[in-house]
Amino acid sequence: MNRDEALKKYRSTRNFTKTGEPPGDNAQVGKNNLFVVQEHDARNLHYDFRIEINGVLKSWAVPKGPSTDPRDKRLAVPTEDHPLEYADFEGVIPEDEYGGGTVLIWDRGTYRNLREEKGDHKKNMADSYEEGKIELFLEGEKLRGGYVLIRTGRGKKEQWLLKKMKDDHADARRNPVRTQPRSVNSGLTLKEIEEARSSNS
Ligand code: MN
Repeated sequence: MNRDEALKKYRSTRNFTKTGEPPGDNAQVGKNNLFVVQEHDARNLHYDFRIEINGVLKSWAVPKGPSTDPRDKRLAVPTEDHPLEYADFEGVIPEDEYGGGTVLIWDRGTYRNLREEKGDHKKNMADSYEEGKIELFLEGEKLRGGYVLIRTGRGKKEQWLLKKMKDDHADARRNPVRTQPRSVNSGLTLKEIEEARSSNS
């Protein structure tokens, strides 16, 4: 699927004269293996987990956010592909618009494809996604180490699970979703991002 096709749903659900989200016009080629986790205080608070695959950000909504404890399985519901520029988006989406609410860049960095590194050479990221089994080594500011995303249901009820792998970076005592709430982009909290926006307008 080319980039424009992949971004069709993203673009058709948004009015770019009203939302500050990027339209995704920059044909950034990318190949930086970006990942980003955005806390999104919409109707239901959730964490959007996004990884760069073939020039777009494949995306999942994770209601409880990622864990550093390998015993936790976090539900991850797939959402529409987002443009790469979205990794820099932080701010307030107007109430009446799609996804209305505050977005905070909770973590950001790069990833390595562990399946490819293990010698599973055919398993590039697109193949892994297709197959429903993705193994990543995240190099973020809050999240580090191996994570696995596994598809557990298909079709309309498609859902995935996000799990920390057992490795040196696993830590059952950490709970960064609770203890490290600030943006890695601005250092602000959700509330401060919201307030900054109201005082600007
Ligand atoms: Mn969201």
